[in-house]
Amino acid sequence: MFSRRGAFSFANERPILLGGALCLDFINTIGWRGDPIRTIEFIPSYSELVHWSLGSGVLDQHKSAHLIDEGLRNPAKSTAALEVAKELRVELESAFDPDLRQSTNLSIATAILRSVGDLEMLVAGADGLRWTSTATGSDILLPLVPVAISGLELATSRKREMVKRCADQDCAWLFIDDTRNHSRRWCSMEDCGNRAKAGAHYARRKQNF
Ligand SMILES: [Zn+2]
Repeated sequence: MFSRRGAFSFANERPILLGGALCLDFINTIGWRGDPIRTIEFIPSYSELVHWSLGSGVLDQHKSAHLIDEGLRNPAKSTAALEVAKELRVELESAFDPDLRQSTNLSIATAILRSVGDLEMLVAGADGLRWTSTATGSDILLPLVPVAISGLELATSRKREMVKRCADQDCAWLFIDDTRNHSRRWCSMEDCGNRAKAGAHYARRKQNF
C-alpha cells in the first residue's frame, strides 16, 4: 500500500494497478477498505481523480492538464463530477466485491457512458490505448469513462467469478485471480503477503519465549 507519510498525491506517486481490471483498481483507491477506522480516501478531489487517470495510463498529459484546469475553474462542476466518481465506485464495489455482491445494476456506469460516450475515442499511445476527446465542450466526466467501460466489460466476462478480496481483511483490495489453481490470496505478495508472513513469524517467535 502507499506510503502514508506526508501529503499523498497521484501527481507524485503512480497508482498501484494490481486488480487486473481498471474498475477494480478504481475500487482500490480506498486504502484499508475493510477497516472503517483506518480507511484512506486516495481520491479526495477532482484533481486527484485526473492524476489517477493519467497515472493509470487512460488519459494523456494534454487532456489531463485541460481537465484539471477546467475543474479548478468550475468548482461546482468538478465537485459534482467527484460525487459521480464516488457513486460509481460504490456501484462497482456492490457489483464485484465478493463479500458484498449485492447488485448487478451498473446504471451509473451506463449513464456516464451515455453522457459523454460520443465525444470520446480510443487512440493508440506508446504504451497502449488511451482515451482522448476532440470535443470542445465540457468533458468533466471523461476520467470515469474508461472505468465505466471496464466495469461493464467485467460484468459480462467470465473473469467476474475470479474476483477475490485480499486475504488481509483490513486491506480488502480486489483483484482478478487468474492463476491456474486459483491460489492467489493477496493483493500483493510484496505488501500484504509479506506482512502476513512477518506476522506469522512473529507469532512463532513469541511462542518460543
Ligand atoms: Zn492486500
